[in-house]
Amino acid sequence: MNNYFKSMPDQKGFFKEYGGSFIPPDLQTEMDKITDAYYKISKSHEFIAELRDIRKHFQGRPTPVYYCRRLSNELGGRIYLKREDLNHSGAHKLNHCMGEALLAKYLGKKRLIAETGAGQHGVALATAAAYFGLECEIHMGEVDIVKEHPNVVRMKILGAEIVPVSAGLKTLKEAVDSAFMSYLKDPVNTIYCIGSVVGPHPFPMMVRDFQRCVGIEAKEQFFEMTGEMPDNVVACVGGGSNAMGIFSAFLDEEDTHLIGVEPAGRSLKKGDHAATITYGKPGLIHGFKCYLLQDDKGEPDPVYSIASGLDYPGVGPEHSMLKDKGRVEYTSANDKEALDAFFELSKKEGIIPALESAHAVAHAMKIARDNPRQSILVNLSGRGDKDIDFVVENYGKDYGVVL
Ligand SMILES: *Cc1c(COP(=O)(O)O)cnc(C)c1O
Repeated sequence: MNNYFKSMPDQKGFFKEYGGSFIPPDLQTEMDKITDAYYKISKSHEFIAELRDIRKHFQGRPTPVYYCRRLSNELGGRIYLKREDLNHSGAHKLNHCMGEALLAKYLGKKRLIAETGAGQHGVALATAAAYFGLECEIHMGEVDIVKEHPNVVRMKILGAEIVPVSAGLKTLKEAVDSAFMSYLKDPVNTIYCIGSVVGPHPFPMMVRDFQRCVGIEAKEQFFEMTGEMPDNVVACVGGGSNAMGIFSAFLDEEDTHLIGVEPAGRSLKKGDHAATITYGKPGLIHGFKCYLLQDDKGEPDPVYSIASGLDYPGVGPEHSMLKDKGRVEYTSANDKEALDAFFELSKKEGIIPALESAHAVAHAMKIARDNPRQSILVNLSGRGDKDIDFVVENYGKDYGVVL
């Protein structure tokens, strides 16, 4: 599969049949402006030089690739982590937020608007807004506000305004709806900064491009450490931004197996998981086409995962295409497997992963057990500090952690 980046997405934002832009005409006008600006500005020397400087001096990039010696010795296989947990603000999300906010600065926007699930995108965007001196409005479901309390505090300290969303399940999907509506009220002075490779064109492409630094760095670092390409690259998939970031560098490496891990939640009943590609079928959500967990009328199903950042009924259009092409394997890990991995990585390596990232670690551990001679590069998308209180309160005694 030769690199398709020059031809896809096409002019209308399609990755084969997925993606596009299914939005009202006034919003389309604004999206077209962002698309035009993105093509011109983001390829300019000035923009690239400024973003490089930010990556290095503000974010602390490149983040390291780390070999898990104790975990690998125990399981077999060789497990490596791309340490996005060490990216400033604790997850990969700052990579696209700094890019989106820099674009906003070039466009003369005053305010950034976004939704957040686990709070990671909100924290990352609030961080970017503070860096550039922009206002920041974050929409968040009331359920997530309670569950992700530390991130709510962080956003407020950074100067962001939080808009609680009480509709529906009070989680990520409703927060996206609410943020879209707020953006429509003033698209001239604000810019909507989506949190993943989802939404109408140009967001899936733009967010992927801003996340590509993860894959570009990891490929070079892995080769330097081992003299070869990884046998497997594993990433968790919510909307799919951290996965696209790392996969993008390996699409042409035909011997490298790419695996996206979706959340299988607490059961495979409707409403108990968010394994979109594994169990969904093509449909429309938030202005784009993708695999979707949906009912007979095409309405998005309720979804759940122990990891707030993964509970979205849709998924990036590029992932949907890569699934059909067969270039990426999509599988899932459930809550229990993610929790096991959360504690295992903490105890064996001294790294507390985000519950989202723990899904990828869980699958990497499975591969390692079954394939003792293979190497596995995991995108450790974020750190777990935000999850510790919730995990210990609800599951601590199952793992011998009693306060
Ligand atoms: C938000 C988040 C994810 C899920 O988002 P993707 O767009 O699928 O990457 C994964 N890991 C962490 C740590 C997150 O904060």
